[in-house]
Amino acid sequence: MSFAELGLNPIVLKCLETTGYTEPTGVQSQAIPAALEGKDLLVSSHTGSGKTAAFLLPSLHKLAEPSKIPGADKIQGPRLLVLCPTRELALQVQKQAGIYGAGIKKLRTVCLVGGAPFGPQFQAMRYNPEVMIATPGRLIDHMERGRIDFSRLEVLVLDEADRMLDMGFVEDIEHIVSRTPA
Ligand code: AMP
Repeated sequence: MSFAELGLNPIVLKCLETTGYTEPTGVQSQAIPAALEGKDLLVSSHTGSGKTAAFLLPSLHKLAEPSKIPGADKIQGPRLLVLCPTRELALQVQKQAGIYGAGIKKLRTVCLVGGAPFGPQFQAMRYNPEVMIATPGRLIDHMERGRIDFSRLEVLVLDEADRMLDMGFVEDIEHIVSRTPA
């Protein structure tokens, strides 16, 4: 099976050409078509299996088209939110989002992680990034400062959800999810 056969947007397919990947991995072949249908997925897959692209590619497929939510371009908030247990993982996800989303006009990403100064994060948010990658604690810090509107959010990913739960993030995650659209 090829990436084109999965039904991904040509803009995303073009960016994939720069990666040198020849075909989807197992988790990508299974998850991408279901995600493109708009299903909610619970996916279990090892690090190294291509799991990050399995959620980023169908998400970026959506972001390659303008939001269908009325007035979305005036809303100050992300269309894709990825929660990660650690700063390191969040930075890796941001890097991959930059590669797979390189062809999408005006696509901006922001990484809101603890252990990093707030200043550059506030600065990045001024440009209203469509992709937000965050660790739960730091995201809540930003939410409490009233800086994030989730009303145009289309995709929520809990990356390494099991690890986040092991790390005691359950209440933070529930709080964040309660602020997102149904
Ligand atoms: P992950 O499971 O997300 O940690 O991905 C592990 C590595 O697989 C990353 O370095 C990706 O660049 C790479 N990768 C993702 N998808 C593919 C693919 N379809 N073919 C080859 N490598 C891939």
